Amino acid sequence: MYLPNRTWPEVGEYVADESLAVVPLGSTEQHGPHLPEGTDHLIAEALAREATDRTGYLCTPPVRIGVSSHHRQFPGTMWVDAPVFRDYVESLSRNLTAHGIDRIVYVNAHGGNVAHLREVGRRLHDDGTAYAIEWMWDESIPGLIEEVFETPGPHGGPKETAMIMHIANELVRKERLEEARDGGAIFDYDAERVHGATTFYDCIENSPNGVFGDQTDATPEIGEELFEAATDQLVSLLEWLDARPVDDLMPEPQLEP
Ligand SMILES: [Zn+2]
Repeated sequence: MYLPNRTWPEVGEYVADESLAVVPLGSTEQHGPHLPEGTDHLIAEALAREATDRTGYLCTPPVRIGVSSHHRQFPGTMWVDAPVFRDYVESLSRNLTAHGIDRIVYVNAHGGNVAHLREVGRRLHDDGTAYAIEWMWDESIPGLIEEVFETPGPHGGPKETAMIMHIANELVRKERLEEARDGGAIFDYDAERVHGATTFYDCIENSPNGVFGDQTDATPEIGEELFEAATDQLVSLLEWLDARPVDDLMPEPQLEP
């Protein structure tokens, strides 16, 4: 059930029976010379819509701008400061509870949002307002990603390229896949540490064109396989969460001495 397309009596009928909402979140930021700036929010919205179409759960409109200042050297990258993002997501989540929602899944497709969504979930959990958890699509299928790509890349690599080939193929600049690979980097986070410290802040410090991995390994067929596998994971998560009694989702009481 996609909330923006529904009337208030229809949403009212939903919340009479159900208390779960899905909120898609992504970013609007550079994804190299071959992928659109909307890559992350396109992926988040497509997965959230597919999983909620299959199950009937409520899906809110997407949050399309996230925490992306680490891509700011590239034209077009949009971002909001982290405290603003956290407060905004917390506020819209808190306000969903006015309609009877008590459990939320943040369907996320941007790594820069993860820590902040966890913090928002913690705030809502700590005061017993709602149970909200972050779900990042590629972390739901790590084995499959390892299996299909030699160098998946954390950003703008073949996994995101394949997903956009499946979701919106016309937006992928296929003639620039080799340029993306040759002008980018193969990234090993651990190898980049200096005596145990992470020394970089911005994407451009590790990749001159903003992307990582071998984009020429991406195909629409692999994209479909990733999309289906991630959707299955998300559907299972939603059903698991729906089945939990609310008391199991709220904080444990203080221990008696
Ligand atoms: Zn991305």
